[in-house]
Amino acid sequence: ALLARTDAVDGDVHAYLHVARESALASARHIDQRRGRGEELHRLAGVPIAVKDVMATKGLPTTCGSKILEGWIPPYDATVVRRLREAGMPILGKTNMDEFAMGSSTEHSAYGPTRNPWDLDRIPGGSGGGSSAVVASFQAPLAIGTDTGGSIRQPAAVTGTVGTKPTYGGVSRYGLVALASSLDQAGPCTRTVLDAALLHEVIGGHDPMDSTSIDAPVPGVVEAARRADVKGMKIGIVRELTGEGFQAGVQARFDESVQHLVDAGAEVVEVSCPSFTAALAAYYLILPSEASSNLAKFDAMRFGLRVLPEGVDDPSAEQVMAATRDAGFGDEVKRRIILGTYALSSGYYDAYYGSAQKVRRLIADDFTKAFESADVLVSPTAPTTAFRFGDKLDDPMAMYLNDVATIPANLAGVPGMSLPSGLADEDGLPAGFQILAPAAADERLYAVGAALE
Ligand code: GLN
Repeated sequence: ALLARTDAVDGDVHAYLHVARESALASARHIDQRRGRGEELHRLAGVPIAVKDVMATKGLPTTCGSKILEGWIPPYDATVVRRLREAGMPILGKTNMDEFAMGSSTEHSAYGPTRNPWDLDRIPGGSGGGSSAVVASFQAPLAIGTDTGGSIRQPAAVTGTVGTKPTYGGVSRYGLVALASSLDQAGPCTRTVLDAALLHEVIGGHDPMDSTSIDAPVPGVVEAARRADVKGMKIGIVRELTGEGFQAGVQARFDESVQHLVDAGAEVVEVSCPSFTAALAAYYLILPSEASSNLAKFDAMRFGLRVLPEGVDDPSAEQVMAATRDAGFGDEVKRRIILGTYALSSGYYDAYYGSAQKVRRLIADDFTKAFESADVLVSPTAPTTAFRFGDKLDDPMAMYLNDVATIPANLAGVPGMSLPSGLADEDGLPAGFQILAPAAADERLYAVGAALE
């Protein structure tokens, strides 16, 4: 039924880069047989799922939305993907994304953008627009996204779906093609908070293949989502992430959601996180720095594309590498590689990367202080509803500004969730409500999120 739905709508939405029709059906049949034999299966066995194309999937193409990886079929599964398969969840396909997860609209995908199912002239968010759109357009009940600066939460906000970025280290990064290793985190994209919790539980937990993986049990997210209890909880409104700069209709839905929490027995406090105003500047130095290093491995020798320079008889390895990277990377990726390489150069390192790392510390300190007076922090997820294609494409700064509310969580490694808060009056489009919790207290996101559903 889901594949038929994809046939009917994905010509318009373009959420998928690759539909794994045959293997998904084979896996579903296999689960049916096992169930028929009376085998005891995982509670999500047979529930199909779509996976962002940044996750290595054995036998299925993995492009990261880039031409440079066109034709690459990974010989192994990411840990997240392995856990989905072990739970018996058929993988429906790979979802579209901004190239190497750089962007907030999917307009930077080398394979064309995904369209927002609510309005096909608008962006579905990014970088994981495909994973949210595939869920919003009912092509999959669940999807996997990755969030380095908001790429799970902002697409969820603008497509009226739920998305969680777990605590850094809560979900293995093994097999997740790295954008910025100190910020990347995979998580669930779903239609309900409970669905997100069920999926979080499957993919979370310690993995010896990832040295940054937390060696502790997955927080009690399913329990918390079922209880949906916020009585006596302190909800902190982040002063720097509300009001000015936020679309009126987004702000109005946010205020209403806060009132719902009060009605459900929570207490509201205001907190100030002054360093958050420098988060964007720090992020857009740290991310390109890490990305420039991570993307150095695309050297025309190891993966995917290889382009020979024109008019050169006996090209050197370096010439092949340059020609391949020139042809294989898009503008945004090149922009960030140049920026990151510059920020890491000797003579500039302390001024740029070093300063950004100091700001990162201050942001983490702001969170620590805020969580002394609040159990969770809340804000609108994104300043606006879905914008129109082309609106911010020629102005990288305008695109970056859309991440103002999501980025602090990645810099500090704390978990965050976005869930729908309703439709903005101006345009009738979904607005997102963001919840942030202290590191390793992911269950609080689910308690608060479920109380709002
Ligand atoms: N918009 C952010 C960026 O472009 C989001 C990145 C992400 O979370 N993958 O860097």
